[in-house]
Amino acid sequence: MISVIGAGPAGSFYAANEKSDEVHLFEEHEVVGKPVACTGILTDSISRVTQIDPSLIVSKINSFKIVAPSGKSISIDLKKTNLVLDRARFDQWLFQKAVDNGAKVHLGERFLRYKEEGKKLIIKTSKKTYESNALVGADGPQSQVAKSAGIYGDRKFVMGWQARCKFPNLEEGVTEIRMGVGEFAWVVPEDEKIARVGVIGANNEVLKKEYQKLLGASKIIEDQSGLIPLYNPKQKLQKGNVFLLGDAATHVKATTYGGIIYGMIAGTYLVQDKENYTKLFNQKLGKDLWISLKMRGYMNHMSEAQCNEMIEIFKKKNNADILAEHDRDFPSRFIVQLLMKEAKLWKLGFGIFKNRIWGEHS
Ligand SMILES: Cc1cc2nc3c(=O)[nH]c(=O)nc-3n(C[C@H](O)[C@H](O)[C@H](O)COP(=O)(O)OP(=O)(O)OC[C@H]3O[C@@H](n4cnc5c(N)ncnc54)[C@H](O)[C@@H]3O)c2cc1C
Repeated sequence: MISVIGAGPAGSFYAANEKSDEVHLFEEHEVVGKPVACTGILTDSISRVTQIDPSLIVSKINSFKIVAPSGKSISIDLKKTNLVLDRARFDQWLFQKAVDNGAKVHLGERFLRYKEEGKKLIIKTSKKTYESNALVGADGPQSQVAKSAGIYGDRKFVMGWQARCKFPNLEEGVTEIRMGVGEFAWVVPEDEKIARVGVIGANNEVLKKEYQKLLGASKIIEDQSGLIPLYNPKQKLQKGNVFLLGDAATHVKATTYGGIIYGMIAGTYLVQDKENYTKLFNQKLGKDLWISLKMRGYMNHMSEAQCNEMIEIFKKKNNADILAEHDRDFPSRFIVQLLMKEAKLWKLGFGIFKNRIWGEHS
């Protein structure tokens, strides 16, 4: 028996693909996918692991408008559309795939702890005790599985404040990113009236005030805020037959704090080769997460003048084209190309590798 803890995208997608005979999927909530704490944006990279059912798509992003503190902006017209999903229904869709693959599901059942007995893992939940051969912690940023295994590590978090709300002056298909508000802020339209509006940064009163200012008088329909782990390159991903997946493993890219695709791709490595899961993950995705972390460290130190300068750099068509063409989930594929083409970025980009970022988030 394999016990999977957490029916978020990482846990359900893994359970939907695991080939072992007996997979049990535990979710502490009675209803999968709720409460939502996510904008639900996926890049085209999702097609590496699954084809999204069109009925889950709320809107599409064709263009990013990036606004500097000076008010100057650039528009990046994407070569490949990004999707904005109904996140609750997306989780339920993946959960159903796990059920279809034969997973036995336990809703409203919380994982508490486990202990080893010989080669077996004795798993204690809020309802029962189970004997398992392997345990997969896909239980989100504050993973109880990681804590129970003693591999929680030196974890840091940012706070994502977000609301689904009625918002003025929306342009369908255009997502606005505001630099210099928290680490960054966003307005993602669902249609011409409703948007997912949020800001991310260190979890403190300043951020909360920036969030309130961003929302202004908008009518909030649903609070969708949540904690996001900062990628920790030293995070242990496995201990014996205990494995961590997705946010539980801190696998979120620190540039835009997207984690859905990484968690799902990691699941395919775990299905493929449990023994070498850590090695596979680090070889294939570690570099991109590391680059994103360094870029975030740099971006967090940019002065207003540097933010404005960055906008000027990306006003040049050649530079904007590189961003438009490439998938931001995999910066290793375009960062060198950008640095080669734009001499000014050397000065700014060099900081990426100089900055310390550890210890700056609570
Ligand atoms: C405001 C905000 C906006 C975001 N926007 C995006 C975005 O646009 N795109 C993107 O890719 N990512 C985004 N993210 C990040 C994304 O939401 C996460 O990376 C993603 O949800 C991680 O999936 P997961 O399956 O690893 O964990 P989760 O989605 O957190 O799922 C973990 C599951 O485990 C369950 N669980 C927890 N503890 C236990 C327990 N002890 N026992 C049983 N069950 C348990 C939880 O109830 C939950 O269902 C955003 C996050 C925030 C906060």
